[in-house]
Amino acid sequence: MTDPRRSIPSVDAIVASDAFLELIECYGRPRAVRAARAAVEYVRAQVARGDPVEGAADVGLYAVWAAGELLRGDVPSLRAVINATGVVLHTNLGRAPIAAVAAEAMAAVARGYSNLEYDIDEGTRGSRYDHCVDLLCELTGADDALVVNNNAAALVLALNTVARGAGVVVSRGELVEIGGGFRIPDILERSGARLVEVGSTNRTRLADYRTAIEVGGVAAILKVHRSNFRMTGFTEEVSLSELAGLAKESGIPLLHDLGSGLLVEADRLGLPEEPRPQDSLAAGTDLVAVSGDKLMGGPQAGILLGGREMVAALRENPLCRALRVDKVTLAGVEATLRLYRDGTQAVTDIPTLRMLAAPPSELEARAQEMVAALAAVGVQAVVRPGQGAVGGGTYPGATLAGATVVLGPGAGGADGLAGRLRTGDPPVIVRILDDCVVIDPRTVLPGQEEDLTRRVAEASRPSPEGQ
Ligand SMILES: *Cc1c(COP(=O)(O)O)cnc(C)c1O
Repeated sequence: MTDPRRSIPSVDAIVASDAFLELIECYGRPRAVRAARAAVEYVRAQVARGDPVEGAADVGLYAVWAAGELLRGDVPSLRAVINATGVVLHTNLGRAPIAAVAAEAMAAVARGYSNLEYDIDEGTRGSRYDHCVDLLCELTGADDALVVNNNAAALVLALNTVARGAGVVVSRGELVEIGGGFRIPDILERSGARLVEVGSTNRTRLADYRTAIEVGGVAAILKVHRSNFRMTGFTEEVSLSELAGLAKESGIPLLHDLGSGLLVEADRLGLPEEPRPQDSLAAGTDLVAVSGDKLMGGPQAGILLGGREMVAALRENPLCRALRVDKVTLAGVEATLRLYRDGTQAVTDIPTLRMLAAPPSELEARAQEMVAALAAVGVQAVVRPGQGAVGGGTYPGATLAGATVVLGPGAGGADGLAGRLRTGDPPVIVRILDDCVVIDPRTVLPGQEEDLTRRVAEASRPSPEGQ
């Protein structure tokens, strides 16, 4: 028997075929040739595995396959999706959608020149690190501040600046994994610091910290906020103010990895108590690290807040350059922070906060509207009480009472429907509960309803040629 791979046409033959002319015209020769090569490689691999490919000898097959690939190649890799999961800070879906004014500020700075490192009054060189500082100090009571790439970067910079080659005391109850392999002990080590573990998983006392510091070689105390899990039962931990007292007495700084970055009172959002950076500083922390895109609801950033000397040392660390933010981020952080000057405005204008605070009555009304819009295009759905989540590794276990739109499973069951919703344009990401697709209006942004209705209608009636 002859090797079936020998019947596969050559890339040259495919590219020279009439069927390929249009693709070359449309996408240019280099891209079209690359697609032809990929098609040949795909069929070769398939045949080599013993899977016969019908029409493998026909150049037309490769033209069709290449056309599909070239079309898909024009769809941006990173693109907008509709988050219908009800998880507000969905890490996989880009965490925080930012406020309109923040997006506008970012676009304006991105498109043109700015005074990123220019002092307009003096006509001299300025510093990118000056932007946002006054606002951050005003909002949190800090003496100085530094914005870096994200909270993880903030922690690396803080540890490397304060404790390179020295010990850092951390409670065993706080040696946590934040997510995506970001573990406090590893970060500490990579920052050049030495981990000094104290206490036990469930109980750590002030005396444990004191004893460890008395041994010597300790440059800082680190408190890590357990943002993504809860510890209950026989537990004990040392408060920030007690740790701050010990730090002062020992002549070393107290660092606080807070993470979430909530600036308004949690009860404004109807959420349980959550420490804010201003509370941490008031308790006597020397340096607090928070995330810009968790509960602050801004662009991805890490924010360090503390005393002047401490923050000056961070700025002078050569690593600061490697972790620095770009002008676009700074513009977005500044515009977001400005909204916090008025707490009420923050909750209405910052999408993250607005979605968290959305009352069940409003969500129920939006769910009813969605059901009516779906009925108008022939899709049956019902409104049911449902629960959203804060997400982003914050508020574990907390649920947000609301209302959801529940669709019948339809062809291929709930998984089939969810898959079709995902693969259209724009992709719609849903949750499946009790074998039904559930749409949570909480995270469907204003203006996305029409697209959502259209996509659900499309996905509910799968046409053989359309999918
Ligand atoms: C989320 C979080 C981080 C990491 O923040 P990024 O901005 O995602 O880098 C670090 N520490 C804590 C306590 C967190 O909650």
